[in-house]
Amino acid sequence: MKIAVLPGDGIGKEIVAEAIKVLGRLGLKFEFEEAPVGGAGFEAAGDPLPAKTLALARQADAILFGAVGDPRYDALPSARRPEQAILGLRKELSLFANLRPAQVYEELADASSLRPEIVAGLDLLIVRELTGDIYFGLPKGIRQHESGGREGFDTMRYTEAEIRRIARVAFEAARKRGKKVCSVDKANVLETSRLWREVVAAESKSYPDIALSHMYVDNCAMQLVRNPKQFDVIVTGNMFGDILSDEASMLTGSIGMLPSASLDANNKGLYEPIHGSAPDIAGKGVANPLATILSAAMMLRHSLDQAAAAERVERAVKKTLRDGYRTADIYTAGTRKVGTAEMARAVAERL
Ligand code: NAD
Repeated sequence: MKIAVLPGDGIGKEIVAEAIKVLGRLGLKFEFEEAPVGGAGFEAAGDPLPAKTLALARQADAILFGAVGDPRYDALPSARRPEQAILGLRKELSLFANLRPAQVYEELADASSLRPEIVAGLDLLIVRELTGDIYFGLPKGIRQHESGGREGFDTMRYTEAEIRRIARVAFEAARKRGKKVCSVDKANVLETSRLWREVVAAESKSYPDIALSHMYVDNCAMQLVRNPKQFDVIVTGNMFGDILSDEASMLTGSIGMLPSASLDANNKGLYEPIHGSAPDIAGKGVANPLATILSAAMMLRHSLDQAAAAERVERAVKKTLRDGYRTADIYTAGTRKVGTAEMARAVAERL
């Protein structure tokens, strides 16, 4: 199992190193190869996604990614900014399916901005299409308008094939969970959404064991804060998914807890925490490594066919929280405040 290790910038380096230590304790055979990406890639090769890094990512069975971005590079032209690396990897490797679980551990229910009884035990998965929609649709631009002044325009588009393949990812994922898929669109207004709804409904015929429902995106945004536990799997397009998945992440209280996977058609994937490089705490040894450790668990499950090992890691994380270990971002009075390395060590000891 060859893993491309791309720590990136800021806390990326600290948390990825800890996740690798946890993987090392599983007694499995991994080959880790590290390469610079983001600001580190720019420093090493003048490119946020150096050719060698991309070649390694292509070759590997899976990619463990930290985070990219640093205020030092904010003045660079957009093609050279660290954040381009992640967009480049998604595009070059056709990582079209973004899986973002949002789980609320009972022990952390108080950390949410919603009342504990609304979120305690929450376990939902957002499946977001990642390579199509209005973010990539052409034409787009800013042009002179005949009435004088300029107008900006983008194009929302999805092909049937793109909708079908993301729908399948959602139905397959639901099969391993609560067997419910809610497809989110704006079919009351958008043609793209009308096609989306039609294709998802047709595809669901191949999954008679899965209950499919449809919801408009504005309603879904509301339902996520009203009664988030009604959802099992949500499947949606790139833009709606971008917004809803950030909303869902905050239900859990801490950005430092949430993993993600971005998969291609063969379940090869890039695994990363949903947070960024956190320059404000980089180098201090206080970052929460659990999102990255849980991303490594997703990697074991989805790309490396090691579901049992994935469960061991997830159980160890739960036990660590139950035993009271907390990094600063999830700390509450009466628990034990630890740094990045100690948190990861506690997980490794509980495997
Ligand atoms: P951020 O996620 O880096 O940080 C937001 C806040 O959450 C900060 O206060 C930070 O200290 C805290 N935080 C984040 N992760 C944490 C962790 N593991 N443990 C404890 N606290 C944590 O978002 P930002 O500050 O908006 O962005 C910083 C940089 O990261 C920017 O350059 C941005 O472009 C980049 N970014 C990268 C990715 C990515 O690599 N996929 C994603 C988001 C942002």
